[in-house]
Amino acid sequence: MLTGVQVLMLGGDKRHVEVINRLAELDASIQICGFEDCSEVNSTAAKVEYNDTLFEKADAVILPAAGTDDDGMINSSYSKQSLQLSSSQLERLPKHAVIYTGMARTYLKQLCSSFGIKMIELFERDDVAIYNSIPTAEGALMMAIQNTDFTIHQSSSIVLGFGRTGITMARTLQALGSKVKMGVRRSDHFARAFEMGLDPFYINDLERQASNIDLIFNTIPTMIVTAQIIAKMPVHSVIIDLASKPGGTDFRFAEKRGVKALLAPGLPGIVAPKTAGRIIGDCLVQLMRDDISNRRNV
Ligand code: NAP
Repeated sequence: MLTGVQVLMLGGDKRHVEVINRLAELDASIQICGFEDCSEVNSTAAKVEYNDTLFEKADAVILPAAGTDDDGMINSSYSKQSLQLSSSQLERLPKHAVIYTGMARTYLKQLCSSFGIKMIELFERDDVAIYNSIPTAEGALMMAIQNTDFTIHQSSSIVLGFGRTGITMARTLQALGSKVKMGVRRSDHFARAFEMGLDPFYINDLERQASNIDLIFNTIPTMIVTAQIIAKMPVHSVIIDLASKPGGTDFRFAEKRGVKALLAPGLPGIVAPKTAGRIIGDCLVQLMRDDISNRRNV
């Protein structure tokens, strides 16, 4: 249970409705800002006007997936009101308080560090990234199906990056009967991909590997599917770029060549907000229990 834990939730989207309801189930005291137009939140969560005093008793502050922008602005899908996080709020936070966010830009990192406030980026955690890879792979598959006139079964696909998202993507494609090549840069990843029944290759051989491919799923967050690679790809092939913005594809050249290339950010929140919210909520519950009880005992 989270009885007695004071949570302040600032902005968010459908995923955060799930988080609010999960925390409410566990008896946390929740104040929420930026949910005026939302009717789905648990009635025990108090919708409050945003002001600096809300921070004085908070044990945990929860921010949306993107945290804040470079000016401290917080986005909410359920409000037209602007919320801004600045030093006037952080200086009021108790020292044991923790800020939880999906990701943090430099603004938020600097703000927390200047006030000595612990900040946790949930999407950096292995457990969250691995759970999130499930709706991500399903969303990528959906995009591939919508943008091709052939089946995944018997298609030739490439997955770039043998990380948390790449492994799930490859396994999902494999399960549907695609012939999956896996682009890696490490020999241990090469060996593991081989063991999984994938067809591994080293990234520096991508140009050759791409010449007879139907689908590329990129998870490497750097320019990897260059004009040189795209020039070798069949024109019917489709690139689904899952890497964080701006992706790892030369989209300008792909368009010029007539190869369909799609940047697909934020898939868990788009294709499965309920599941994505449950992933965030479960992780938050675990962290709050650990973090807050530890810090109170210091
Ligand atoms: P990850 O576990 O760190 O995996 C990234 C992979 O890329 C690793 O295997 C890494 O190789 C490889 N890599 C990085 N730089 C490389 C380079 N220069 N050359 C070759 N390989 C390189 O990350 P992840 O959690 O899978 O996330 C991957 C990307 O997807 C991130 O940008 C993340 O933000 C994004 N993402 C998007 C969605 C969505 O909805 N579109 C959802 C989740 C994540 P090493 O292991 O050798 O370092």
